[in-house]
Amino acid sequence: MDKQKDKGKVYLVGAGPGDPGLITVRAAELINLADCIIYDKLVNPILLKYARPYTEIIHTPKRIGHGSCKQQQINELLIEKASKGKNVVRLKGGDPCIFGRGSEEASLLADAGIDFEIVPGVTAAVAGAEYSGIMLTDRRYSSQVVMVTGHEAECKEESGIDWKWLAKFNGTIVLYMAVGNLDSITQELLEGGLSPETPVAAVRNATLPAQKTVKTTLNRLVKTRDSGQIEPPSIIIIGPGAAGDPSLEWFTAKPLFGQNICITRDECGNDLLAEKIISRGGNPIPFATIKIKPLTDSNDFLNALADLKRFDWVVFTSVNGAALFFSALDKLAKDARIFASASIAAIGPRTADKLAEYSIKVDFVPTKYTSRELALQLINHTNLKKKNVLLLRSKQASDELPELLKKADAKVTESHLYTIEPQESNPAPIIEQIKSSQIDWITFASPSSAENFFHKISPDIINTASVKIASIGPVTTRRLKELGVNVDLESKIQTFDGLLDAIEEQK
Ligand code: SAH
Repeated sequence: MDKQKDKGKVYLVGAGPGDPGLITVRAAELINLADCIIYDKLVNPILLKYARPYTEIIHTPKRIGHGSCKQQQINELLIEKASKGKNVVRLKGGDPCIFGRGSEEASLLADAGIDFEIVPGVTAAVAGAEYSGIMLTDRRYSSQVVMVTGHEAECKEESGIDWKWLAKFNGTIVLYMAVGNLDSITQELLEGGLSPETPVAAVRNATLPAQKTVKTTLNRLVKTRDSGQIEPPSIIIIGPGAAGDPSLEWFTAKPLFGQNICITRDECGNDLLAEKIISRGGNPIPFATIKIKPLTDSNDFLNALADLKRFDWVVFTSVNGAALFFSALDKLAKDARIFASASIAAIGPRTADKLAEYSIKVDFVPTKYTSRELALQLINHTNLKKKNVLLLRSKQASDELPELLKKADAKVTESHLYTIEPQESNPAPIIEQIKSSQIDWITFASPSSAENFFHKISPDIINTASVKIASIGPVTTRRLKELGVNVDLESKIQTFDGLLDAIEEQK
């Protein structure tokens, strides 16, 4: 990020229409480097995951309130922050300059002598159409497209939009901010000669799991809106392409589209699972129940490290464990050579992949990813008699793994890499969503998530609601049942993908 001597710089950045995958590489890079981020209502807050922990983050509707008259305050904020030498990312939904007032902010910065850059974003018209299988241009029926606001600046005395002229446009018209003004717009387009049967599509919450596309015709548009089917924020697409082609509706055809899935791990684990849910079209609802506290400063762990050469096998049983182990190693200025000739086992492919990031090729992964299978299959794979085995795992891990290994005459040492603590999250909003059937699934990926979730929420609430419970495997299922919870589904394969595959099959 460039820096002027005394003044900072403002980046007017497009955040895209909602799907976090539609952010540009440049935008993600700038969010990561920013000192201050000022973001709008339509920006998906999930994108703030790119920001560093101590970046100042300002949500304009919260800080400044709603309404266009507040723009002045945003302008002042931009100048104030940049004048203090900060690099400011002004993050706007879609593209910053398509009906986003980015142009006004750029002029203001130019006048104030503040350096700025503009980073384009995917605008709602393009995204909403393509995520609905609607083509804005197609040489067979639409050779031009126009983007129009349905809500002009209040300070303008006369409308700059000639709707009657647009009626003769002979292409695709996309309206932004038009839901409230459809009566007069439709009337003028009809008076201008646009056919009453012209196809119209309204796309709400484009590219998000809550996307809803309503198809109608120009003469029925106002009625459709009045029936409550069209609400902001929506784009309105008018023209032959708006009829769409159901075979092109790739987004809503995704396997988990429309499924609201509550995830109950730690924040970092929730992020990982959320990405997988989004890529399958579902809506993740994070509710962290646990937090991971590293124990890699403990004597127990440091002793195990100092003694590592003695071990024949080192066993990792989680991604968290692998990541924490190597971050601790890094702090001690050591690297993978510390394993010397020890063989390494991982409980499953995700843990093996994590280890591969540190250039460790694991020697053993069982075909089923539970502690029990790891023990049984490792015993089958190699003779563990009198062999020194080091287990690097969480403090809460069950005794099954060491006990089975000891039965095979292995000399087992345990070192705890982390402990799991309850995460204090307010349960009220989740309870409300469960009761009003806004959540389809609650997933549990460990016994501790189950314990902490039901510490705050009575199992009766779940058992009497329409929500379904998905468990990652037998150990978690057992704990859920002990807690009095009806389990609807247990994943056959103990991975996030296994869990989501199982939900797809049952939904
Ligand atoms: N700069 C934005 C537009 C801001 S104006 C862009 O380039 O997309 C706000 C209007 O944009 C909303 O009233 C709505 O018409 C449209 N809009 C923005 N995001 C949208 C979304 N995800 N789905 C549907 N319409 C959206």
